[in-house]
Order: sequence, then structure tokens, then C-alpha cells
Amino acid sequence: MTAFPLPPGSTIGIIGGGQLGRMLALAAARLGFDVVTLEPEPDSPAGRVASRAIVGDYDDPQALQALSEACDVITYEFENVPAAAVTTLARLGASVAPGARALAVAQDRVDEKTFLNAHGAPTVAFAGADSPKSAAEAVAALGAPALMKTRREGYDGKGQRWVEHAADAAGVFEALGSVPVILEAPADFTRELSVIAARGRDGETAVYPLAENHHENGVLRRTLAPARASKALAEKAEAIAVRILGGLDYVGVMGIELFELRGGRLLVNEIAPRVHNSGHWTQDGCGVDQFEQHIRAVAGWPLGPTVAVARVEMLNLLGDEAEAWARHAHEPETRLHLYGKREIKAGRKMGHVNRVRPL
Ligand code: AMP
Repeated sequence: MTAFPLPPGSTIGIIGGGQLGRMLALAAARLGFDVVTLEPEPDSPAGRVASRAIVGDYDDPQALQALSEACDVITYEFENVPAAAVTTLARLGASVAPGARALAVAQDRVDEKTFLNAHGAPTVAFAGADSPKSAAEAVAALGAPALMKTRREGYDGKGQRWVEHAADAAGVFEALGSVPVILEAPADFTRELSVIAARGRDGETAVYPLAENHHENGVLRRTLAPARASKALAEKAEAIAVRILGGLDYVGVMGIELFELRGGRLLVNEIAPRVHNSGHWTQDGCGVDQFEQHIRAVAGWPLGPTVAVARVEMLNLLGDEAEAWARHAHEPETRLHLYGKREIKAGRKMGHVNRVRPL
């Protein structure tokens, strides 16, 4: 059994080698921890800033054994960690945070919304379906149009399509691959917001100010934070976050995506049991950012302050936009964050900038 708090010099494992893992590893290093990554791709963004990079599949038993032997605690940077990996790590006696329940809930959109509604976190009306017939019935019950999403493994708007008429449901079900789906009623939102929240091993929670998010083609483009919001709205979001994290007995940072409806009602769209793109603004807008906060939480340290010390506009650098690094480096109010990805691909998240202004 690992004893917490973990002292500096301990080793933290990260499953996943992308930019989130890289920024987690950098934050961990700053607190005196060593980091070991597990990632199938050699030469990964996170692996290159870690003290050791294990190259292997996420569910490779030998790789997981090596990770478990090397680390005092293990975390992850993406929610689609295979269930088999979590089971193997548990059998090896590894300490994994956030826990298996948070992963299971976040991996299945029906389980996720069922959990949220049971814990006082409202969502759109929804129904699960696993055949063309049940999909058509679900659309008829919810009313068209409805949004059909695969229950598992969708991200950045992939794996989802609008069904305009109940009669189209069977065709859309097949177009999404004839896999189990969720049907969602449309959220008539005025804004998309998110809240980044953390919960420590002692149950203490810390919630960052609301962020306002703008997407393009399903991908986050721009975040403004702290979002302009009434005290009542901010308190509502915070209460929702605290209920979700408490309900999962969560340890770590979570990203919670919200829809704001007219009149200030909030619905939860989805939860990400990890640090989140819409929380990158905290790197230059808060004293302790989401990456350090996550490391603090999983290491059993006290959580840091979440108040904003600046107003930030975060812009993702997608594809060849990252080639403008020299221009961004010239801008005095801009903080440049690049992920060290070897290959530029259209739409790929290569980095981001935080434009920092006084509060
Ligand atoms: P998701 O993959 O669930 O995060 O959805 C990606 C984007 O699709 C969201 O950021 C929204 O812009 C939009 N969206 C998702 N669900 C709904 C919904 N039920 N009603 C309206 N828009 C939605």
C-alpha cells in the first residue's frame, strides 16, 4: 500500500504519451517527482520529458507490470484507458487515480448521464439504443431532431450525427457502425462553458472559475476565462462539480463540459476524468494550474488555490498554425506552449497560446 502524501523523489506513472501527459510530467518534475510514461508510440511528447518512457500497448501485461513496479502512483491522460489495463493494475496492487469507477462512468455515455442525473447534475433527456428498431423508438420518444452518438469512444465531435426524422434513425444507426448508441435531445444552449475541478485524497475540493468555450468542427478552438458569469451561475457550476466529484469519490482533476441555457440553467454535456483542453488557461491565469493540481491530488498533497490572477484567452494551435511560433514569441502578452509533436497533420493539436490580460 502506498503511503500518502508521496514525498518528492517518488515516481508517478502516466498512461498516455500526448500533450496532456507531457504537461502533467512537466508539472510533476517541478514538484520533485520522477515520471514514467506508458505509450505505444516511441518518441512521444510526454515520453520525451519523462525520466523513463515504457513503450508498449496500454493493455500489455508486461508493460503494465513494469509501470506498476516503477511507480508509487499511476494516473492517465485520456479516458479510454482499456478496462483490462485497470484490472491488471489492480491485480498488481498498483495505486491508480482517478479510480476505475470514474473511468467506467466516463467511457459510456449512457452510464455517464445516468450517473449525473442520479447525483443532481442535470443533462439533456436521453435514451440508449442498440438496434435500428430501438434507435427509431428512442427518437420517437425523445422527439426529432435528436443527436445520435456512439455510447463509447467518441471524442471531438466524432461518432455523432443528428437524426432529423424518426424515419432516418435506422440509417444513422448503421452509418455510425451499428454499435450501441445514445440518443440525446437537443440542448438549446446560449453558451458552452466548462469547469475544471479537483478533489484531493482527503475529500477536499477546489474548483476553478468558469471558462467559456468556442468549438470549430467539433474541436475546441478558443477558451475565454474567467468567463463572464453571475455569482449565481458560478455557484451553480461549482455545486454541480462538487456533487460529481464527491459521487465518484474522485481523486484528481476533472473537466466538466456544460451547456448554459437561457435563464442561466446549466446542463452537463460530458465529464472528462483528466486534465482538459479548456483548462489550459490556468497555466497562465492561476497560481496553481490544472496540471500541478492533478499531480498534487494524486500524490495526496494539499490542493492549491484556484482563483484567477489574470484573464486569459486560450487559442489552440491546430496543424500548421504552430509554424507561427516565432510571431507568437514576439507578442509580449502571449505565452506559447508547444507539444513537441514530430509531425504536423491537418487539425492536429500542436500547441496553444495563452493571451494574458489583467483581470
Ligand atoms: P461531445 O462529443 O458530446 O462533447 O459533443 C461535441 C459538441 O457537440 C458539443 O461541444 C456541442 O457543441 C455539441 N453537442 C453535443 N451534445 C449536444 C446536444 N445534446 N445538443 C446540442 N448540441 C450538442
